Amino acid sequence: MKRIELAIALAFALIELSTASFAQDSQPVPADNSAVNARDRDPNAVTADRQSNNQSDVELTREIARRFNQFYGKPAPVFPEPQPLLTPAAKLPGTDGRKMSKSYGNTVMLTDPEPVVRQKLRTMVTDPARVRRNDPGNPDVCPVGDLHKIFSTEETMAKVNEGCRSAGIGCIECKGWAADALVQVLQPMQDRRKKYEDNPRLAWDILEAGSAAAGKVADATMKDVRASMGMSLEFEPGRKQ
Ligand code: SF4
Repeated sequence: MKRIELAIALAFALIELSTASFAQDSQPVPADNSAVNARDRDPNAVTADRQSNNQSDVELTREIARRFNQFYGKPAPVFPEPQPLLTPAAKLPGTDGRKMSKSYGNTVMLTDPEPVVRQKLRTMVTDPARVRRNDPGNPDVCPVGDLHKIFSTEETMAKVNEGCRSAGIGCIECKGWAADALVQVLQPMQDRRKKYEDNPRLAWDILEAGSAAAGKVADATMKDVRASMGMSLEFEPGRKQ
């Protein structure tokens, strides 16, 4: 095997590992996607079929999968094309309306206690067109509206849509509902987190099990990759293929 081939194989192994979705509760990929169904894998397994990652990362990975299949995917595609797993709002906004990011200092932390969450949301930016209480707004251009789409119930979302567009509710009230929804999501997480804080070994066990599961998938994938490229590891003494 030439050095360049080994480099390509390693690159694809890294791509596979970096794109694997570890969310066991992810939505399944649409059944009518023939590329995804090209390989008969356990739909609940750790695979590169599904991504809950940044949309541009998904696009890049899809392009790489397509290119690889174009070169080496005969008679059957080697890589499935990952499908995005997006929340109803494409990005999670921070309190300043930009993408939520620690480097922007606009985050609501998973560990924030309820009063902190409520305080942060109270200062969150809103639809800039809604200057006064009686100005109608638009939840589709409001970062608080995005939070509702992700965390609130359909019933609350309907109240937000109606109340915001008709100026029937104020932004403070609306933010209070968003905080209610967020606290409901965060509280059980924070309760569960306590168990791992008290016994960090439990968290390491989960990480090690996930790493072993991802390793198995990566090994199986790399076997397919090598086979499709006509490569072998047999020249490396003691290394199993
Ligand atoms: S009412 Fe809610 S969705 Fe509408 S502008 Fe205010 S905070 Fe945003």
